[in-house]
Amino acid sequence: MNLTEPQAGTDLAAIKTRAERDGDRYRIRGQKIYITWGEHQMSENIIHLVLARLPDAPAGVKGISLFLVPKFLVDADGSKIERNDLRVVSVEEKMGIHSSPTCVMSYGDNDGAIGYLVGEEHNGLACMFTMMNNARLGVGLQGVAITERACQHAVAFAKERVQGIARGHTERSTIIHHPDVRRMLMQMRAIAEAGRALAYYASAQTDLAHHASAQADRAAFQRRVDLLIPIVKGWCTEMAQEATYLGVQVHGGMGFVEETGAAQHMRDARILTIYEGTTGIQALDLMGRKMLRDQGQAMAELIEEMKALKASLEGDLGDIGQRFEAGLAALETATRSYLSSVGDDPDLGSAVGVDYMMLAGNVTCAWLMAKAALAAQKHIDAGSSDEFYRHKISVARFFVERILPRGEAQRQMVEAGSASTMAIDADLF
Ligand SMILES: Cc1cc2nc3c(=O)[nH]c(=O)nc-3n(C[C@H](O)[C@H](O)[C@H](O)COP(=O)(O)OP(=O)(O)OC[C@H]3O[C@@H](n4cnc5c(N)ncnc54)[C@H](O)[C@@H]3O)c2cc1C
Repeated sequence: MNLTEPQAGTDLAAIKTRAERDGDRYRIRGQKIYITWGEHQMSENIIHLVLARLPDAPAGVKGISLFLVPKFLVDADGSKIERNDLRVVSVEEKMGIHSSPTCVMSYGDNDGAIGYLVGEEHNGLACMFTMMNNARLGVGLQGVAITERACQHAVAFAKERVQGIARGHTERSTIIHHPDVRRMLMQMRAIAEAGRALAYYASAQTDLAHHASAQADRAAFQRRVDLLIPIVKGWCTEMAQEATYLGVQVHGGMGFVEETGAAQHMRDARILTIYEGTTGIQALDLMGRKMLRDQGQAMAELIEEMKALKASLEGDLGDIGQRFEAGLAALETATRSYLSSVGDDPDLGSAVGVDYMMLAGNVTCAWLMAKAALAAQKHIDAGSSDEFYRHKISVARFFVERILPRGEAQRQMVEAGSASTMAIDADLF
């Protein structure tokens, strides 16, 4: 996907790459930066999707069109006929994801790169968003994947590294027996399991939005997907920072040296909160397009559905139910507060959006973890002795005891408004 230019990162309205009509094709000229896999030798051809502006395009994002620009032009039977007028200018040196080439691309240094219009002229951003919504889910899942990998890595190390004598041991023990190390490993495991549940839930809702038989159902599932995409992307990638940070911490000094590989997870995870729209941009999407446009309808539907679970969380799972209920109340209060205050506080969505998004992620994850605990309990009640089910309940309990309570602080931050954030003039920083 070729969106970014030096002056047009988050702000795609500033795109300058030009496209001129040439018969039924277009000639593309301009520079794109940070293009993932912009050039490589892993496939026979590379098909770039490039955002560019036609000469008569209206200003802003409404004037952007989408073009398919292959590295090699092909004839009707797919045989390569000539190299297109595009080239890689340089490959970036980065702090992580070193096996993913990030390229500066130049289009049309000579006659103009041949491009083919995708969709309608001037409607390119909407077309690109079809791909970007999937990509945002995918990047959220990258957060889950790196969290899981960092967790497995840290567990293996904690089972080998011998330091101190843990309570109940008579000889020096492996560090996994120390409660503080267990806290870190449980934190990582809970983030991985909750993030996986969230990303899979959103993916299943996407399938339902496409395939449910009734139109009204498809629309309702699509509302849920639209609401969840920034939360999956924002929550799973921000929490991957925490998980990979903890992975280094579990390794002690060995985490800081490259030899163990723990540091690589931290460096690789760092891009996830930046590309496909930064965390701040996911939050703006949630607070604006996903919350204001429908006056909180999609969020209210999710909250109502989540409320219904509480009644089933009883008996052995009653404590999980109580903590979940408190988290859900924080989300409901913060939602009401935001919708009623944003009219008087135009900076509110941007100032508290990330806090609200993380609150929504914490509560939605707690809901899915509690549902998993309930399913596990049913198997246990039916006589299963599979450890997997007991562990599932333990991780759900850890999540609502140790991660979900952040939601209460996040509610307070949302209710505090934007005033203190914006109190100091920009030139006094
Ligand atoms: C390794 C890597 C791979 C990438 N791959 C691709 C690719 O394949 N294709 C592609 O097109 N791009 C790619 N990108 C670009 C990436 O999507 C952008 O870097 C990202 O969207 C942020 O844009 P920017 O870097 O210009 O930051 P800026 O837009 O300058 O943002 C800087 C900071 O300001 C904040 N900010 C900006 N505007 C606002 C606003 N309106 N409200 C609140 N906060 C704001 C941001 O959240 C951020 O914290 C890649 C980048 C990297 C580093």
